[in-house]
Amino acid sequence: MTSLPMPTSPPDIHTAREITDLRFQQLFEDVDAISIQGYLVDGTVIYWNRASENIYGYSAAEAMGGNLLDLIIPPDMRSTVEGAVHWMFENGQGIAPSRMNLRHKLGHLVPVYSSHTVVEVSGQASVMFCIDADMSALAKAEEELRIAATAFESQQGMMITDCRGVILRVNTSFTETTGYSAAEAVGQSPSLLSSERHPAEFWSLMWQSLQTAGSWQGEIWNRRKNGEIYADWVIVSAVRDADDAVTHFVCNLTDISQRKEAEGKIIQLAFYDPLTHLPNRRLMQDRLHQAISASQRNQSCGALLCLDIDNFKILNDSAGHDIGDLLLQKLAQRLTENLRDCDTVARFGGDTFLVMLEDLGADSVTAAAKAQLTAQKLLQALRLPHQLRDQVYHGSVSMGITLFDADGDSAEASIKRVELAMYQAKAAGRNALCFFDPHMQAVVSARAALETSLREAIAQSQFLLYHQAQVNQQGQITGVEALVRWQDPQRGIVAPADFIELAEETGLILPLGVWVLDTACRQLVQWASQPGLAHLTMAVSVSALQFHQEDFADQVLAVLARTGARAQQLKLELTESLLVSNLDAVTAKMQLLKASGVGFSLDDFGTGYSSLSYLKRLPLDQLKIDQGFVRHILADANDAAIAKMIIALADSLGLQVIAEGVETQAQREFLAALGCHHYQGYLFGRPLPIQAFEALARCL
Ligand code: C2E
Ligand code: MG
Repeated sequence: MTSLPMPTSPPDIHTAREITDLRFQQLFEDVDAISIQGYLVDGTVIYWNRASENIYGYSAAEAMGGNLLDLIIPPDMRSTVEGAVHWMFENGQGIAPSRMNLRHKLGHLVPVYSSHTVVEVSGQASVMFCIDADMSALAKAEEELRIAATAFESQQGMMITDCRGVILRVNTSFTETTGYSAAEAVGQSPSLLSSERHPAEFWSLMWQSLQTAGSWQGEIWNRRKNGEIYADWVIVSAVRDADDAVTHFVCNLTDISQRKEAEGKIIQLAFYDPLTHLPNRRLMQDRLHQAISASQRNQSCGALLCLDIDNFKILNDSAGHDIGDLLLQKLAQRLTENLRDCDTVARFGGDTFLVMLEDLGADSVTAAAKAQLTAQKLLQALRLPHQLRDQVYHGSVSMGITLFDADGDSAEASIKRVELAMYQAKAAGRNALCFFDPHMQAVVSARAALETSLREAIAQSQFLLYHQAQVNQQGQITGVEALVRWQDPQRGIVAPADFIELAEETGLILPLGVWVLDTACRQLVQWASQPGLAHLTMAVSVSALQFHQEDFADQVLAVLARTGARAQQLKLELTESLLVSNLDAVTAKMQLLKASGVGFSLDDFGTGYSSLSYLKRLPLDQLKIDQGFVRHILADANDAAIAKMIIALADSLGLQVIAEGVETQAQREFLAALGCHHYQGYLFGRPLPIQAFEALARCL
């Protein structure tokens, strides 16, 4: 702005007016964004300030002397403007101010708010002044608002909340989808729509993403006002102010329930059998593929069972296809009912079903036995009569089994094998079960036979306890370990290595374990009255399954009470494998028994799950160095180092240590030098039947 000269002395009245005029002239000239133009009655421009130049593009030099109508009036407004100008000069006043679009020198329109006034000075020609405010910015903002408003009322549900999540606005589509009107939603939290199907972590992850990335999108199960739960695809964006603080959240909700339903139908059609609703061939192949990969990863076997209905064609032809269909449905149902949730059963085509069992363990013989057990259960269930409308149908199926394991081949090859096995079962006279691998068949059959005789053995108490001495530094017997033997009428004395594992897998170890405990305690009572034997402790091995029974501690206490044995002379041998799970429950049981005087020894120490932290927590009395380390203790520096470490560990925890499998004097001396002063092994005596043991004990 040009500065005016400062008055040096008070101006007279005339000079004062001139100064005022000058000031106004300057003001008109300099005022920004307000265009002031002066016109004579015929439209000739006599005044054009700088803002007019900015707004309309003409410099004052270009505009002066030109005509209003030619300069800034668009052609379609010419006659209106002409009329208005005449009216204003005739009446000596401006028309009411209004918004209009006038023309820029370059041809485009400029939105302005235009006021007019007619200035009459006596003796002079009247002049019309137009005062136009540039409205471009406002018009643009209005346009954006219009666009935003249209966008807001789009097909998708929109919800705007403040930064705390209070709903400020929702659109019509939101109301249509959720059932909540704007009045009902505004002021509420978005949890208005909560279906309670998502856990707290889901929401905290969403907030985390909003804080860090400023946006989140995903599928949310929402609840409509009428209670119906449906799926929305939700996009949330944070709105930030100039200081980057979040002011609002804009949520866009798209109801995808129909799409999901359609997808579900497509999946159902593509991967499921419409008659039985079981997975079809394609899905089964896919799952088998995955299962084979998983079994390679986890080093665990799985099994494939192929079932085919015997004489299905005869039923179909004689009773009609709808009865045939009914049988397929009933069979599908029975199969599903008799399998675990994690097993897959599929209709593989016609009257053939495929069953896939996973996680049957690393050992293929055990896996085969488990698969056979399931197969037999299924055969039995399917053999029961089916009510097919008004007729009862007695049918059977033939079944093939094959295993897939770590070095197994493709899904296709496994399917071929199991189908072959199934045809073999059919050839063997139907209603039968056949393994693909004849060797496996033999192993499984032998196992099944062993299981049967083991059951009989338990029923008929065909067991014996052998006793093996445990000695101290001086070679005196301080106790024994009770070791079970099976006295089989055909096989003679069977060692535990040949049946304990099977007993554990079949659960037969539970009745056997009770028998062992009971017999061992009775032996203690018998010895109690014999001077050379009364002091002996009795170590009894307890398997994991036995110990994990909820009432194990009560069982032991009951045996002690029943037999009258002293708890202080009973020592339970646990293995490390037992401590892998449920450590709290294990500790509690041990403490309960410990309180009654029962002792604990940790068998085979060093071979299993050697987390040392549990050792501190458990009320143990003794660590038993596994015979595997003792065997080569003189020759193998590693074994010697481990034995030394176990002895030091026992020492620091205040536990006794005993070495198992001591066969030579040299081993005994080496162990003694390391600080181990209790021993068990052939050097002092093998496990012996009771009379032989008692004779030995009297000599030692
Ligand atoms: P374990 O508890 O580690 O028992 C020690 C095994 O080492 C016994 O085999 C014993 O005969 C053998 N042994 C002892 N000293 C020597 C030696 O100097 N050299 C050699 N080479 N071996 C020696 P056994 O009696 O065949 O028992 C094998 C396993 O069967 C036992 O190992 C135990 O895990 C299990 N077992 C035996 N009886 C029972 C029982 O009543 N219940 C349970 N749950 N398991 C039992
Ligand atoms: Mg033992």
